[in-house]
Amino acid sequence: MSSLESKLAAASLGTAAVEGQPAAEPLKSLFAKKKKKKFGIKLTQERPKEKGAKPRAAAAPTTFKAADYASSARRGADVSAQNNCTLEALSVALYAARAFREGFARSPGSSPVADALREVLAGVASNDVPSAANEALRQALATRGGAIGAAFAYADAAEVLELLLDALERDAPHAAATCTSVGYRLVRKPCLLCGDDSAAGPVAETRDVRTFSVNAALVLNLLATAQSPTFADLFREARADAPVSCRACGERACAVSGAMEAVAPVLIVNLTWVSTPEGAAVAQLVRGALLPFDAGVAFDGGAAATYLCVATVCFKGDHYTAYARPPPSAVDLRYPPLWTLRDRFVDRGSGDLEWLLGELSGAKPKLPSLMVYVRV
Ligand SMILES: [Zn+2]
Repeated sequence: MSSLESKLAAASLGTAAVEGQPAAEPLKSLFAKKKKKKFGIKLTQERPKEKGAKPRAAAAPTTFKAADYASSARRGADVSAQNNCTLEALSVALYAARAFREGFARSPGSSPVADALREVLAGVASNDVPSAANEALRQALATRGGAIGAAFAYADAAEVLELLLDALERDAPHAAATCTSVGYRLVRKPCLLCGDDSAAGPVAETRDVRTFSVNAALVLNLLATAQSPTFADLFREARADAPVSCRACGERACAVSGAMEAVAPVLIVNLTWVSTPEGAAVAQLVRGALLPFDAGVAFDGGAAATYLCVATVCFKGDHYTAYARPPPSAVDLRYPPLWTLRDRFVDRGSGDLEWLLGELSGAKPKLPSLMVYVRV
């Protein structure tokens, strides 16, 4: 198996397609923003008070002015959420992917990460709030490094997912395998102008990929100009390399696009956002992304299969939440079923597609960070 470095590189595949961005330097996204905060009080291990509860701030200001203390306590609670909400949302989203769940069940091995995740998923299954198990999972992962291990650091969902899958590769290999697509490579196409195909073919080594990064702004740009694209079309375009020069006619008319030998049963798209667009644009993108996703189109014919989104991990105001729906089922004629918002494992409401789009496209949009698809 490849090293963590190559996996992280694979995770940032596709960012190279962005105009003016060198391949070696992945785009910074809102999600990747690291926040270091220091406070005199230690609130990290505590669950924040439920809404409506008065912050303890009002109780007994000592060395702070009351207003400062209230603000500090509030931010402390946010930091606590940051440290665990990423994993909470990820667990809810992974649970929604049946293939992952079943793969995990087929990996009975014991390790701190696997044992904690087993408890977390059992909690999600029974509509419980497995916060203690989630914290145990965070601590088990923290020993492996990354932002999730640093006090007051802010953990990006895609990074944490890589960290988790990396651990599961050893601890629960069947689960990791369900999220690992095999044989991704860039392929040079015949010249669009003269048809020369003497240099056509794979241009890079194959590699395995767990999350497919796509620049959301690029997708939105393409959406504005394309005729009647599907999200799979936009996904392919946004991840394509710049065309290269033809050996015969010299024009830059040889397209380079990604091809895949086998797309994993659970396909995870990592949308990266460099800025927050208007809510309407987010809704437009998500509406398209929730239609059946044709992997044959997305990977240029290399891997025909249809996928449906069953969960999305969203980001707003330093906080991750997850929207999930039951997986497609041959016996459930009411598909698509309702989406449910889970915030810190707690059910915060359900609704249909329009409800979900309304949730994401407010005045300050909730940005979908990870889209979890399952093969149908
Ligand atoms: Zn040519």
